[in-house]
Amino acid sequence: MSLLDPLFHSLLAQADARRMRRVLRPLSTQAPAGHVLRDGTPLVDFSSNDYLGLARDPAIARQAARCALRHGAGARASRLVTGTLDLHAEAEAAIAAFKGTEAALLLASGWQANAAALPALIGAVQGPALVYTDRLIHASLHAGCAQAGVRQIRYRHNDLDHLEHLLAERAQEPGQRFIVTESVFSMDGDQADVPALAALAERHGAFLYLDEAHATGVLGPQGRGLAAQAGGRVDLVMGTFSKAAGGFGAYIAGSRALCDYLVNTCSGFIYSTALPPAVVGAVHAAVTRLPGMDAERAHLHALATRLRAGLADIGIDTGLSSTQIVPAIVGDAGRALALADALAQAGMLVGAIRPPTVPAGTSRLRIALSSLHTAGQVDALVTRIRDSRGPCAGAGT
Ligand code: PMP
Repeated sequence: MSLLDPLFHSLLAQADARRMRRVLRPLSTQAPAGHVLRDGTPLVDFSSNDYLGLARDPAIARQAARCALRHGAGARASRLVTGTLDLHAEAEAAIAAFKGTEAALLLASGWQANAAALPALIGAVQGPALVYTDRLIHASLHAGCAQAGVRQIRYRHNDLDHLEHLLAERAQEPGQRFIVTESVFSMDGDQADVPALAALAERHGAFLYLDEAHATGVLGPQGRGLAAQAGGRVDLVMGTFSKAAGGFGAYIAGSRALCDYLVNTCSGFIYSTALPPAVVGAVHAAVTRLPGMDAERAHLHALATRLRAGLADIGIDTGLSSTQIVPAIVGDAGRALALADALAQAGMLVGAIRPPTVPAGTSRLRIALSSLHTAGQVDALVTRIRDSRGPCAGAGT
């Protein structure tokens, strides 16, 4: 028993009363492709970020196992001490080639990359930093800004006119500008206009930091992400291997000077043990595989178009989604939970997302598609949402 257990119990009881207590529910992946087992029951998995079905790909898993058997379970030390193996260097070269950048750096996770790289970058500038962020950026980017000790200047979601206005308003103030955004937004599935952002950043001398967690492997030519649209004008691209690449870990891609600087200053890189051989093996195998997956990407995008049309037909708001992430926005948190429960009973696993992850009044099902899904599964999902949504659910309520 810990000293603070009575306090923890009371806080958890309060969360329970508000139906906001979160619990971990173990699943098994010993199930057919695209499914998981919950309490022994197979469910079609519309909840994970395994967009291309690589998480259980046998060739990638075999490469991870080979690397573990050959090089061991752990990397033994942090990268700057003695943890950098030839495996890391080879994977980083492959990532840089995939992203079309001079260099790349592996980091332990997407969370850690954002939380640690932003303070290092902002710390590089002598004097003030003005940090402009999209209102819907991921929690890890907020953590990075907080760690850097900056007050964010937040612009309306994907509203580049608003961003330009805010930049112009402070044009006379000294300081280095940074623009921080995602290329695909994790809860809405909409896309930033990356070429326009790059042009805006250029006009205002701003450093552009782009989180490609949900675009890597899925969007852009051969799945290289949306930064590819801006022809090398994004200063820093960050992404994860935990989503379409099916594994774990993250990357930062950019100039050689940027990566060398981060090696010297990024706390989450310096003070954390290097990624283990199995993980690096899976990363490298996935990066090699992703460019050749155009057929899977085309199928995935066709499924997303079908799902959005199906939901629109039954009056469900999918917001501005234009990707494999399709929110079914039902508004009320209780309704989102009830709908997710009804879908689970019908054999479909979908995450219900509520505040504070999304703004109040926009609770939703976050439907994440995978190229493993079929059109029939998507149609069945729409039918089940129609039949389960209750009498008062409707578009944008
Ligand atoms: N950035 C974004 C936009 C994300 O959605 C996530 C994960 N949900 C992360 C970063 C963190 O990545 P990871 O899961 O690899 O820590």
